[in-house]
Amino acid sequence: MARRRLRVAGTVQGVGYRPFVYRHAVALGLAGHVSNDTEGVLVEVEGPPERLDELARVLADEAPPLALVASVVSTPLAPTGESGFGIVESRADGAPAVPVSVDVATCANCLREIDDPADRRFGYPFTNCTDCGPRYTIIRSIPYDRPTTTMAGFTMCSACEAEYHDPADRRFHAQPNACPACGPHLRLLAGDGSRLAERGDALESAARALEAGQVVAVKGLGGYHLAVDATSAAAVAELRRRKHRDDKPFAVMVADLAAARSLCVLSPEAEVALSSPRRPIVLAPRRTDPPGAVAEGVAPGLPELGLMLPYTPLHHLLLARVVRPMVMTSGNASDEPIAHADDDAVARLGPMVDLVLTHDRAIHIRCDDSVVRARPGGRVQMLRRSRGYAPEPLALPGRAGRWVLAVGAELKNTVAVARDTSVVASHHIGDLGHLAAYRSFVQAVDHLCHLTGVTPEVVAHDLHPEYLSTKFALDLDLPTVGVQHHHAHIASCLVDHGRRGPVLGVAFDGLGLGPCGTLWGGELLVADLHRFERVGHLRPVPLPGGDRANTEPWRMAMSWLHAAVGTAAAERFGRGVDERWPAVLALVDHPATPTTTSGGRLFDAVAALVGLRHRATYEGQGPIELEACAAGVPFGSVPGYDLDVDVDGGLVVVDPAPLVSRVVAEHDAATPVALISAGFHDGLGRGLADAAVTLARRHGLETVALSGGVFQNARLTEVVARAVTEAGLEVLVHERVPPNDGGISIGQAAIVALGQQ
Ligand code: ZN
Ligand code: ZN
Ligand code: FE
Repeated sequence: MARRRLRVAGTVQGVGYRPFVYRHAVALGLAGHVSNDTEGVLVEVEGPPERLDELARVLADEAPPLALVASVVSTPLAPTGESGFGIVESRADGAPAVPVSVDVATCANCLREIDDPADRRFGYPFTNCTDCGPRYTIIRSIPYDRPTTTMAGFTMCSACEAEYHDPADRRFHAQPNACPACGPHLRLLAGDGSRLAERGDALESAARALEAGQVVAVKGLGGYHLAVDATSAAAVAELRRRKHRDDKPFAVMVADLAAARSLCVLSPEAEVALSSPRRPIVLAPRRTDPPGAVAEGVAPGLPELGLMLPYTPLHHLLLARVVRPMVMTSGNASDEPIAHADDDAVARLGPMVDLVLTHDRAIHIRCDDSVVRARPGGRVQMLRRSRGYAPEPLALPGRAGRWVLAVGAELKNTVAVARDTSVVASHHIGDLGHLAAYRSFVQAVDHLCHLTGVTPEVVAHDLHPEYLSTKFALDLDLPTVGVQHHHAHIASCLVDHGRRGPVLGVAFDGLGLGPCGTLWGGELLVADLHRFERVGHLRPVPLPGGDRANTEPWRMAMSWLHAAVGTAAAERFGRGVDERWPAVLALVDHPATPTTTSGGRLFDAVAALVGLRHRATYEGQGPIELEACAAGVPFGSVPGYDLDVDVDGGLVVVDPAPLVSRVVAEHDAATPVALISAGFHDGLGRGLADAAVTLARRHGLETVALSGGVFQNARLTEVVARAVTEAGLEVLVHERVPPNDGGISIGQAAIVALGQQ
């Protein structure tokens, strides 16, 4: 006889891990007990040594589907002669250290019960078990236990209680366990908050309203959606009007994979992502003219559609009644954060909707839908890492020297903490300029530190002094480290691939602050997790009107025209677009106007030059439409769009001026915009790859990493990646971490945790 302590670390709470230990320990005839504590799961077990070995192996290798075992550490103890095996209740003392599980889509077993008229959960919208259901969004504190969730106020009935305490049951210690007799219920409200119906009647009325083309707010896992019939042009147009959203595409929820396939062309990888229990929105190429197609207004002018499958029982029940694709867009007006608190939701969404389908299980943490994009090669790339992914830890390529809090960027903000060998990033918080988003940011910092047990020793922030996240960091009474924005982008790509570098990093995005107050955004860096050196950049041009250039891409078109073709061309273009052109031209011409190397602004300029988009109603609209219009043109089929690569004081300067003048000449010659766009993408991509390969070789590097918001552009990414690969170098493209500013906190955390020791 021997006795051992097995310490299991990782995501092992709230995922059915203790019953799993119980079942195997009992099957092996071992004595002892298992408990959750603040460091994970603790097992003390006694029996023949070879069976103890077997249990340790099973705990690591055969963990339940939602568990993520980081380590199983075994320590010998003196045998005590204990008999029987038990599960010990959690205690709430000590400093918590375990990241909780992500929210998980309804499992097949639960769906079967919901569909079975003989089951006591028939038609019940809050059915869940240890394999599925809400987690991160309902947790107030840890250890993860019912009293620390928003289910605390519901007392289980005797049937639920029996399941909850039976180690052999699928609902053993399923914290949100509930049934129609004891759990939450649906409620249907009018826009003014008055109650119209309850339970099944609420569901039926909401379904009929959707069929009739009405706008219904639907409470989901991490917030409210605004839902309408996606096949109704009138309903979609009405939703756009009420939500004050002009063009930005809406996501669509379909009942199953077959329905998804009928709307979009899906690679095997895209199908895996779509139907995974994480249930992200998957952006994929739409079919032309499918039967039962969605209205054009869902994603105006775009060749892709954002699809998702139902992920709560309520979604399944609604879609089974409405039987058509539904727009499910975040419940907010234009760019505000998604509504998740019930009173706030009714106040904010009520005026926009006909009905509110809600319930009495509170959402503690707001969590938007995650978004991934299917790339041409089949793989998927993360664009927004939130529900279903947060707060799952990512492995750090090394051990953190200090506990780090990283506060991220200003737009698409996320925050992250690093300790030991992992980094944990929050859900998508959004644009900190909105007061509600800023409040959510402050709450997220607190909550994430609490859940992970990290008391930060150092705070990582962007160099930009005006970012609200930077100001927040500098206000904390802690040591701080400023991390350059594009260095953080490249570091986030390294973490994505478990690398430390050095690599030749190509960081292209909107704008980020360089070390001396310059506005960067098209940078070639030699970088690892310790340091970076700028070895090249895009040619700088004036940025006329600062932030106004974000929403008025025509300003950058004038700047690039002025630089590439000349003043007369800029003047001619400006006259045709906006009466303020003389002021913009004067700025472009003035030596004191700040310049930028932004790659994102170059795309803005080209989108405006070809007449696609002079004014943007959402971030990145011009570049997105520019990429979209080239969708049907094969790679490399439009030759002759070339750029210059110069050397300036040891730095390589990628000068797209020849590309820009070619774009203008082709546009004047009435060449179709699709071909101009393809030529621009392919020419810029090849030129960038050339510069990156030359620089990589010069610095003895074998790997090129592509990061920054511009690399959300699948065509550009593909062209650069192919050319780098053909040159015999390795290329790193984002997969699990967003290339945009949503990944900045992860890069900051890695640099400060691993690099600056
Ligand atoms: Zn389930
Ligand atoms: Zn019950
Ligand atoms: Fe950026």
